[in-house]
Amino acid sequence: MSNLTNTDAGARTGTGIHITGLTKTFSLRGGKTLTALQDTDLHTEKGSFLALLGPSGCGKSTILRILASLEHPSAGVALVDGETPDQLRAKSELGIAFQDHALLPWRTVRGNIELPFEVAGRPVDKAYVDELISLVGLKDFAGAKPAQLSGGMRQRASIARALVLKPSVLLLDEPFGALDDMTRQNLNLELLRIWTEKPATTLLVTHGISEAIFLADRVAVMSPRPGRVKQIIEIDLPRPRTPDIMRTPEFHAYVDQASELLFGSDGRAEAEA
Ligand code: ATP
Repeated sequence: MSNLTNTDAGARTGTGIHITGLTKTFSLRGGKTLTALQDTDLHTEKGSFLALLGPSGCGKSTILRILASLEHPSAGVALVDGETPDQLRAKSELGIAFQDHALLPWRTVRGNIELPFEVAGRPVDKAYVDELISLVGLKDFAGAKPAQLSGGMRQRASIARALVLKPSVLLLDEPFGALDDMTRQNLNLELLRIWTEKPATTLLVTHGISEAIFLADRVAVMSPRPGRVKQIIEIDLPRPRTPDIMRTPEFHAYVDQASELLFGSDGRAEAEA
């Protein structure tokens, strides 16, 4: 792993995610403050898939929200492909999907997926919208409103919307977290298929250890609040990955390694500082 500093020119020109010395302090009522992230470093390569695992409240979503330019750091630097989150957002290079699908209820599936073109002031690429609708298996539901879809279908529409501007960076915050295990696994397979076709630099926030290992090139395991990256696990499993990989000893060894980092050898999670 590289040791870039805030002023390192390499971080500006480097590709992939470069988070250096990132600290985020929130102001609470009564003059109190809460340090969600403390001096966090995280570096990935362009087009790689990074999963963030960690106990509840360790700052996973805060990292993602900073990269999405929805929050600003209190200290430190977050760059993707040498650009700040604000720059990436202005260029519509960010695709974002959250656990809450956030589809507009009055728009159809197609209307929702076309929305980013309108927001960016670009002409709608109808052919690509059609392609994505097929890719996420919603061809027969293109004219349906979100209320007429299942939870999994809504999340698929939300992923298609995140991809429609062909972003170079994909930020996924538990996009399938609220779904049952079977639907979740199917959607992870679809996500993997789509990502393999067009590998964006991806950051996935998840609580699912197996999911993180199955999808990612690297898994960053975080310590409890204030969050820091405790260890990076390089996932050296071949691609394309199919579900049978989850039954291999190599896969189980990664699950054990991540579990031990998260819960310790006695199965108890580390307490907050
Ligand atoms: P989870 O796995 O439960 O979703 P997380 O690791 O994603 O948790 P964050 O949502 O990043 O954690 O929150 C980290 C800490 O920062 C938490 O203690 C949370 O209460 C706090 N926090 C997050 N956003 C704000 C905010 N806008 N104002 C105050 N505190 C906040």
